[in-house]
Amino acid sequence: MIEPLPIDVVHLMAAGEVIDSLSAVVRELVENALDAGATRIVISLWADQWRVRVSDNGAGMTLENLRQAARPHTTSKIRDRADLQNIRSLGFRGEALYSLAQLSQLEILSRPSSEMQGWRVAYDAQGEAAEIETVAIAPGTIITVDQLFETWATRRDALPSAAQQLKAVQTVIYRLALCHPQVTWQVQQGERDWISLWASRTAKQRLPQLVRGVQEAELHEISIASGNAVESSLYLLLGLPDRCHRRRPDWVNVAINGRLVHLPELEQTLLAGFRQTLPRDRYPVCFLHLHLLPQQIDWNRHPAKTEVYLHNLDYWQQHVSQAIEQALRLNPASIPEPLSSRRVGTVIKAAESGADYRVHRTIAPGEPLPSVLRAIAQVHNRYILAEHPSGMWLVEQHIAHERVLYEQICDRWQLLPLEPAIILNHLSQAQVEQLQHLGLVVELFGDQIWAVRSIPALLAQREDRVDALLELSLGGDLQTAQVATACRSAIRNGTPLTLTEMQTLLDQWQQTRNPRTCPHGRPIYLALEESALARFFRRHWVIGKSHGLE
Ligand code: ADP
Ligand code: MG
Repeated sequence: MIEPLPIDVVHLMAAGEVIDSLSAVVRELVENALDAGATRIVISLWADQWRVRVSDNGAGMTLENLRQAARPHTTSKIRDRADLQNIRSLGFRGEALYSLAQLSQLEILSRPSSEMQGWRVAYDAQGEAAEIETVAIAPGTIITVDQLFETWATRRDALPSAAQQLKAVQTVIYRLALCHPQVTWQVQQGERDWISLWASRTAKQRLPQLVRGVQEAELHEISIASGNAVESSLYLLLGLPDRCHRRRPDWVNVAINGRLVHLPELEQTLLAGFRQTLPRDRYPVCFLHLHLLPQQIDWNRHPAKTEVYLHNLDYWQQHVSQAIEQALRLNPASIPEPLSSRRVGTVIKAAESGADYRVHRTIAPGEPLPSVLRAIAQVHNRYILAEHPSGMWLVEQHIAHERVLYEQICDRWQLLPLEPAIILNHLSQAQVEQLQHLGLVVELFGDQIWAVRSIPALLAQREDRVDALLELSLGGDLQTAQVATACRSAIRNGTPLTLTEMQTLLDQWQQTRNPRTCPHGRPIYLALEESALARFFRRHWVIGKSHGLE
């Protein structure tokens, strides 16, 4: 039932122009369709004629509601002041249709599924129903906005070119489509099809429809439902760092209850979760969707609702970090589990269903992951060939070891005293300061001569430790020094390894937090999945034991 809001509630709302562009029209109409429970939304745009039409298969409106819909501050979504703390819909201010009636020729066709016919209502500039007639339409709503900003020439002049406005419309649609993957979207420019997005189960199937070059197999999703009294949940979709990343952080997104929001704190948490897993100047693809109780969010901050205030931000940052960590480990399968149980579920799935090497395990945080890789052979003194329950893997020995060492020294940057000291000549002041900044003890020993009296533990026994110290002195922060130290200390390619050494390396590497890439962002392993091998060898062609099948 659409009713006017009490005046005290109106005064509490973040006021502002809701409709300031073509894309704002699309946003408001589409959000209304989503609030009405639509699973199919069709948008038609005639940008040069300032016309937009949005059709949906949602709940529709009765004639009584149609009469109310475009009056100022009328809404079916909240009633009173208390409801402002309990917003479960995208809209709640009851302003959009009223603004559109003022700024355009507004016409609504609507039919609730319970009724046999629909109504067509054309509105005047005050949002009053000016023409009413019955129409034969399918259940749902069709809203047409025509001659937008016709009476507001300065607004039209201030807007960018049609092409740029269409780009903004696309962005609005993509942002909502990512948050509502179950909805089918169809967008036309005039009579021409422009964007089609088919309904999908989760954002994992939706994102590849939106971002060129991203494939489903490169993405990993994880959902965690919080149990107990707080019915919140967290959905995280991320691009595996060894398979996809981008030049700009344009697909690092946070959504809350069905809408993308600007929450720099959580965006930073997402970026931080990928630290030292991506090549330099590359950014991850990731999408975080929090479903929270309405009481935990304040939407009423900004007219476009892109800025929100979130309660318990620390709590969510912590859980997001944990979720990323879990997702980036090897073989994590997301099992919905209560956040409060603090148990991380891991299912190691065989690639071929029905095979009996299926393993299910639950592992507590901190507990080492079971080793699933068995070293078989070394190839070209460079790759470790390993058997995995789901196929075979090639692991590059140098970078796998580099990842192991890097995480060890991040956890413990250990410096050992040097006895006797290493003497270095001709260090610049900056070099000396750099070494001291990394925690090393460096003292002036004579004219242009310095004594280095401590060294990172990993480098202590190395023959090239003088070179290593010089490298460290040349700059960079602690992290850079740690990466350099790990790289220098890791087993070189070309070094022969025994089976035991390979197995030890595999075991250590599997326990790392970010096994997919080295600290420079290079991929560490190549998985040849049994299912892919079976396809390649056309194993389904032959039936019978004579061909080596069991
Ligand atoms: P709000 O969304 O803030 O409630 P609007 O001005 O956008 O305000 O819409 C006013 C009312 O019109 C909504 O509360 C809703 O009841 C109804 N409405 C608008 N669009 C639709 C739609 N596509 N389907 C069903 N009802 C709609
Ligand atoms: Mg609305």
